[in-house]
Amino acid sequence: ASKAKGRGQFQYFEAGMNEAAHQRLLLENALRLAIEQEDFQLHYQLKVGGSLERIAGAEALIRWKRPGFGMMPPDRFISIAEETGLIIPLGAWILRMACLQAKAWKDKIAEFRIAVNLSPRQLLDDDFVSILDRILAETGTSPEWIELEVTESLVMHDIDKACERLCQIRSRGIRIAMDDFGTGYSSLSYLQKLPLQVLKIDRSFVQAYTGDPTSSEAIFIKTIIALGHSLNMTVVAEGVENESQLAVLKAHGCDEFQGYYFSPPLSADEFERLWLDPNKHAVDFTASLNND
Ligand code: C2E
Ligand code: MG
Ligand code: MG
Ligand code: MG
Repeated sequence: ASKAKGRGQFQYFEAGMNEAAHQRLLLENALRLAIEQEDFQLHYQLKVGGSLERIAGAEALIRWKRPGFGMMPPDRFISIAEETGLIIPLGAWILRMACLQAKAWKDKIAEFRIAVNLSPRQLLDDDFVSILDRILAETGTSPEWIELEVTESLVMHDIDKACERLCQIRSRGIRIAMDDFGTGYSSLSYLQKLPLQVLKIDRSFVQAYTGDPTSSEAIFIKTIIALGHSLNMTVVAEGVENESQLAVLKAHGCDEFQGYYFSPPLSADEFERLWLDPNKHAVDFTASLNND
């Protein structure tokens, strides 16, 4: 009986796998076509400077305008793009769009930077630096208008190659941020080894904070900020959703903030209307905060 059951389970499992594999193939094909047709849009989420009087920049976050599916979030397709290698052409498209946007916005606000997320496979690709150089040249983008966000998973792939690649990028004058800091399993020693200027505290640390400044969650936040500062890094908090999270981050000297408390990611048009209107930038921004 157990043998029959075992075989039954196996067939069921296999059938399930085939269905999953089939769905994946459909998604992969749709993604391939979408890249050809450029069916994507970058949204931009505001980053605010420590004094809350300064717009520090924005993070570019991709959405797939998939017919019949609405705006598909990156968590649903970036990993497949990684596994299939489609992240190489898609990543180049993202970088190009972000550069064009940075160029369009750079004069509207001082020291405005657009941060772009990079996947490990994209960064470790042998052609990455030449693709980057070509995009910068073709779009007329100055390296200080953009910032590149990498994750700890990059370090787990190949620390030496990651290090070499990031140094090449850094030598162009591009700021490099460690995204989602604290969620990976790699050793901390990479922080010293890699040419990083920015440390982004993962939103799980920010969101675990419930308002008690003596809690272990508060100590974690304080410790991560101190670690970043001791390595001369700018520390950015992501996922700031309320006043008390902002308060604890500010109390410990966090340099920049990002999260729904300030703004969700917005289309370029919306972002421009809300944050880059010349009659409504930095100073008005503080006023609008005090109003609520
Ligand atoms: P990430 O780089 O850590 O981006 C932050 C994510 O947190 C974004 O989700 C953003 O919408 C969300 N977020 C921002 N503020 C808040 C908040 O206050 N509360 C909560 N709960 N969430 C907040 P999104 O846009 O869905 O992106 C998810 C992830 O997908 C990104 O995480 C990044 O790892 C990846 N991703 C997004 N765009 C790109 C891209 O262009 N290229 C690559 N390689 N990866 C991307
Ligand atoms: Mg990011
Ligand atoms: Mg992040
Ligand atoms: Mg994150």
